[in-house]
Amino acid sequence: MHDVAIVGCGPAGVVAAALLGQAGLSVHVCDRMDGVHEIPRAISLDHEIQRVFQQIGVMDAVLPHCEPFTPSEYYGVDGQLIRRMTMVAPPHPQGWTPSIVFTQPPVERALRDRVAAMSGVTMALGTEVVAVAQDADGVTLVQRSADGRERPVRARWAIACDGGASFVRGQLGIGLEDLDFDEPWLVVDVLVNERGLAKLPKTSVQYCEPARPCTLVIGPGSHRRWEISLNPDEDARQVSSPEGTWALLSRWLTPDDGTLWRQSSYRFHALVAEHWRAGRVFLAGDAAHMQPPFLGQGMCQGVRDVANLAWKLAAVVRGDVRGAAAERLLDSYGTERKAHVRELTTRIKGVGAVICERDVALARARDAKLLADCGGVVKDTPRQDILPRLEAGLLAPQDTPGRGTLFPQPRLADGTRMDDRCGHGWRLVLDEALEPPPAAPGLTVLAFGRDGLHDADGVLAAWCARHGCHAALVRPDHYVYGTATDAAGLDARLAQWRAALH
Ligand SMILES: Cc1cc2nc3c(=O)[nH]c(=O)nc-3n(C[C@H](O)[C@H](O)[C@H](O)COP(=O)(O)OP(=O)(O)OC[C@H]3O[C@@H](n4cnc5c(N)ncnc54)[C@H](O)[C@@H]3O)c2cc1C
Repeated sequence: MHDVAIVGCGPAGVVAAALLGQAGLSVHVCDRMDGVHEIPRAISLDHEIQRVFQQIGVMDAVLPHCEPFTPSEYYGVDGQLIRRMTMVAPPHPQGWTPSIVFTQPPVERALRDRVAAMSGVTMALGTEVVAVAQDADGVTLVQRSADGRERPVRARWAIACDGGASFVRGQLGIGLEDLDFDEPWLVVDVLVNERGLAKLPKTSVQYCEPARPCTLVIGPGSHRRWEISLNPDEDARQVSSPEGTWALLSRWLTPDDGTLWRQSSYRFHALVAEHWRAGRVFLAGDAAHMQPPFLGQGMCQGVRDVANLAWKLAAVVRGDVRGAAAERLLDSYGTERKAHVRELTTRIKGVGAVICERDVALARARDAKLLADCGGVVKDTPRQDILPRLEAGLLAPQDTPGRGTLFPQPRLADGTRMDDRCGHGWRLVLDEALEPPPAAPGLTVLAFGRDGLHDADGVLAAWCARHGCHAALVRPDHYVYGTATDAAGLDARLAQWRAALH
């Protein structure tokens, strides 16, 4: 019997397999496809995701497929700049470029290669799950291989990472809550030649034009991505033919300017699963939620899901947390992630509402309001500022500043990143103003300014100053359980933490 079986080896499934395999669990992951999807999908990722990739040791293999994300400029009805999305300035709080553009298929392949090299993980590609059942001790998946043979696989726990049309979600009878977004778009990737590149903008652009809202993203190398809203009278099949696609691109390029790499029409939705756990089975990634791609968050959310779930499952499988505390820990996954997904999707829809306004008068009013709000001078908005914190779940009962936010990853004096030197478990991080407690079982204590730990770029100092604290209790997924400003507050946080987990 495996500890965990994962259905689907897309970005969510493969990262889940890597994190659980790295934690020493026995893991089985399968996918009905042999290869990775080659259709145009994710193009941008956040630093938080790169930090997870760092943990599983794939950043060297991933970086050749990445570049920093250029600013995105939003242009209104009359072609005027109305908003500018950028990334947080250096020093970078997570130790990585805050937003990158990347090519999804080779990055997925690098992740699969990493998992294939893990001794505790078995990977069955070209293998479809066709039935799911569970009992008090575990989950049974029936896998069908390409030759039609069926084979049961047994695991103590299972994670459904089988994408938006999730078979497992359907088998479990879990419905989707509709967050009210449903629009047809064409997504096009072009490899643009020198002649074409000379014609194109040098930043990414949101054309907030009522006649046809659309997006241009500057991808890595010569890759340029268009996301083009379709009008009610347009046929998705016709516009996604090479002729139809070039016709829509004619505002920017002709067929002499590049090679049509791949194009696909989509309906963009905003959906979230009603429940994220049914007994021993969890949903993660697109199986649990779908959101419009305006802030490039779908894959990021899937990686956040499995980073949240993996350490909790590992703690329960290893027996570090037992009984009622184990149940509470596993339930906190859905509580935390569903609320976060709902809130971020609401914010993404807000960004979409700015981009997609089809009424000219309302679009003019939008432009006027955005410009009035910034006093007529468009300011940079870091994309990361839009991300919400965790609001509920395994967090300190008292809402201390910084609680539920992502803890930074300072660079140390020798240039290494904190996680590489100090690991990924539960950590108590202190600045020089607070003394470490005499004993802290179950925690790695990182006393900055002592123990040879120096915050080389001032990232930790800036974070502590922003939240007015001197200590943070940090979870294995880098989210902050709670903070403290003095010794009494620290004692209280530690007592709350012990009570929650033991
Ligand atoms: C146009 C577009 C642009 C996007 N841009 C971004 C972006 O910039 N940034 C971002 O973060 N996200 C973006 N996304 C979202 C992102 O691509 C997805 O959220 C992400 O790929 C989902 O990963 P997943 O692992 O959850 O699901 P998937 O990638 O769909 O993987 C699911 C896997 O499960 C397998 N499977 C399904 N059923 C079974 C079964 N019964 N048995 C076995 N295997 C099964 C499938 O073969 C598949 O490999 C975008 C999406 C689109 C469409």
